[in-house]
Amino acid sequence: MSKFIFITGGVVSSLGKGLAAAALGAILQSRGYTVRLRKLDPYLNIDPGTMSPFQHGEVYVTDDGTETDLDLGHYERFTGVATRRTDSVTTGKIYSSVLTKERQGDYLGATVQVVPHIIDEIKSFILSHTDNADFVICEIGGTVGDIESLPFLEAIRQLRNDLGTEKTLFTHVTLLPYIATAGEIKTKPTQHSVKELLSVGIQPDILLCRSSCTIPEDARKKLGLFCNVKPERVIEAADLKTIYEAPIVYHQNGLDTAVCEHFKLQASAPDLSRWHRIIDHIHNPDGQVTIAIVGKYVQLLDAYKSLRESLIHAGIANKVKVNLTWIDSDNLELLEESLIGVNGILVPGGFGERGSEGKIRAIQYAREKNIPYFGICFGMQLAVIEACRHLLHISDASTTEFGEACTPVVGLITEWLDADKLSKREASQNMGGTMRLGGYECLLTPDSKAHQIYQTTIIQERHRHRYEVNMTYREALEKVGLYIVGVSPDKALPEIIERRDHPWFIAVQFHPELKSKPFEPHPLFVSYIKAAIQQERLI
Ligand code: GLN
Repeated sequence: MSKFIFITGGVVSSLGKGLAAAALGAILQSRGYTVRLRKLDPYLNIDPGTMSPFQHGEVYVTDDGTETDLDLGHYERFTGVATRRTDSVTTGKIYSSVLTKERQGDYLGATVQVVPHIIDEIKSFILSHTDNADFVICEIGGTVGDIESLPFLEAIRQLRNDLGTEKTLFTHVTLLPYIATAGEIKTKPTQHSVKELLSVGIQPDILLCRSSCTIPEDARKKLGLFCNVKPERVIEAADLKTIYEAPIVYHQNGLDTAVCEHFKLQASAPDLSRWHRIIDHIHNPDGQVTIAIVGKYVQLLDAYKSLRESLIHAGIANKVKVNLTWIDSDNLELLEESLIGVNGILVPGGFGERGSEGKIRAIQYAREKNIPYFGICFGMQLAVIEACRHLLHISDASTTEFGEACTPVVGLITEWLDADKLSKREASQNMGGTMRLGGYECLLTPDSKAHQIYQTTIIQERHRHRYEVNMTYREALEKVGLYIVGVSPDKALPEIIERRDHPWFIAVQFHPELKSKPFEPHPLFVSYIKAAIQQERLI
């Protein structure tokens, strides 16, 4: 049976629990163990799919088409283990499933209550679909002390009783603030947070302490004493230059040793060479390139989390530093000025009309000035609209996403194959979970640029979109140099477009950024950054 490591957070939110969970997963793998990571989120939405990126950052999509929290992206990027529907749950999903059972009469006349029914549902989520991995690392979203997280804490408290210390471990991630006027790190908020945990019956086994500097020995001793944790299990997690240092630094600070000791495991020493190589490339680049990302959510960096990381991975692969400039597509006046001198332009996924004219202008600029262009999802749809407007002279070319369009070059997908079943949707349907979601195969045209980059003619990539480029424009588009070189296996849906008269102009209907890892960078990003390096040499 798997061993369960529960990660809770205290003091403040945004402490990087997800990253800590992911890094711990990576270190355990490097010691030869198998891992599975999952996230329990306390909010009432069934999934984050309907939430604005301003609220919740990026929506991460799994191969099996689940819209999940962005922490699942960290899990995949650090461990390479593909996450799935059974690795992400919310309070909303738990209640929805309990209420469905109640309507079906599954509770045989019982009064349905938080304890035991909701708690049991959470426990069964944690215990199922573990694949018998050596470790299942479960991150509890939110901060200890929040009303919403109480049922999750109760569930993991009960699991400690059900499974025993030898199968469960509690890691609490906290903050040790540095107070400049006192010149000291403060332990009190952590003491209070542990008290809060104790009040719901959970004694942490390990404290992972975030801080802006090194934790002095006396602070570590004090925390050990007041929080009932052995001082060597008070692990320092000071701020890092790059997140990819986390597996190495957390190992040096004893995190995995503390885990192995807790479970009484005689584990072999970790082989972290993969991470050392990555760090070496990040810290010692041979050059740099600048990529402009033209989007709507540029103020909120979490909205494009996977995209940022994929560009960093491609930088590692090419041994260059990738500088990102975020350009607000709403600001039309300054747009072209801010694109001067960049080595690549990228229009990422997006929704809605606002800012779309700026994106179309940026695409036109990249096409005319021969600047490498990478379009992702919305960035592909708008690239087709740009070509229709400026090369085919269809001045009202648009997408039905913006309302009824006279010439809908991009329209609502009403039918697609979902796990070999035909999915149909009406414009009036619910918003949640009605997109074409998850991994789909795509066939590439032999000898296209995309084929040369992927080195194969069948690929599988993850999707999240409602609209699709209308295939009836294919011939006309190809006459003006924009080729559809990737299609769905039934040839109904276009997936990749490219120009052959341009140094690098490729746009895709899917989200390649969801599959890139630092140790396995995505080939499209690697090739794009390579083209940007050539561009940099031309300037
Ligand atoms: N808004 C577009 C659609 O729904 C693109 C979505 C995206 O970029 N993820 O099809």
